[in-house]
Amino acid sequence: MIEKTDYKHLEYISKSKKGLFESCPFAFKISYIDKRPQEANPYFIIGTDVHDFIDNFFDVVEAMENGDLKNISKLKFHPNLSYKKNVVKFEIGRWKDLQAQGFDATYFNPVAKEKKYITESPKLIGIVDRIHKCCREDVFAPKHEDFKDGDLVIVENKTGKPTPKKCKKYEEDMLWYKILAEIVLPELAPIKWGAIYFPYNNYVYHTVLTNKDCRALAKAIRKVRKNIMACVNTNMWPATPSPQSCRWCNFKSFCPHMVVK
Ligand code: SF4
Repeated sequence: MIEKTDYKHLEYISKSKKGLFESCPFAFKISYIDKRPQEANPYFIIGTDVHDFIDNFFDVVEAMENGDLKNISKLKFHPNLSYKKNVVKFEIGRWKDLQAQGFDATYFNPVAKEKKYITESPKLIGIVDRIHKCCREDVFAPKHEDFKDGDLVIVENKTGKPTPKKCKKYEEDMLWYKILAEIVLPELAPIKWGAIYFPYNNYVYHTVLTNKDCRALAKAIRKVRKNIMACVNTNMWPATPSPQSCRWCNFKSFCPHMVVK
């Protein structure tokens, strides 16, 4: 039986909690109630590596004297993996473009850097990768008639190959970060734009972040929280196996409901 004091933290919803519960409540129970360790996931390890590298890159750049970035191309970032070379090349190109247009380092460095944010109301958890002040010609800026120099863009780093389906799916992540960032950093609101950066391909996907879409996401989050609490209260966690959810499930090796090998 679950003690009431043990599940308070379940009211705090993260993207992964929402995704796992929507995919299969039984998998959610194994992970968050039974706290069964997950098998090492190579994609997760690569994702962490990419985020750490980009975060450290801006640590180094921000520490440069007086924000003087003219020697950026001489910095050593140990680019021993191809995506690291891509990131450095991409950022040097971005810096040169900004300079050529007369924009300073405030347009290059993030306004907010990778950080785990937790809000009390609504109870949300998430990591916002970075937020950049952009000019119209910045590679992170969408080519949208309403976009103005100095507007903020939330930039999310994603590994893997960009596909239209993946990019569409990630739009929800960007709305999640908008909600979090505007609550935790209200001085930055409203943030109307999002960009997903794929370092393996140096590809950028743009999205418009609207309050209407944020309200729809907030409604979906409330529903997930309510359903999680209903499962906690009844201690009933239905399995909802499907080829898609079971294929990527970390618990398929022992789950009796699994439908794929
Ligand atoms: S293997 Fe399938 S049914 Fe079992 S927990 Fe995972 S997603 Fe649910």
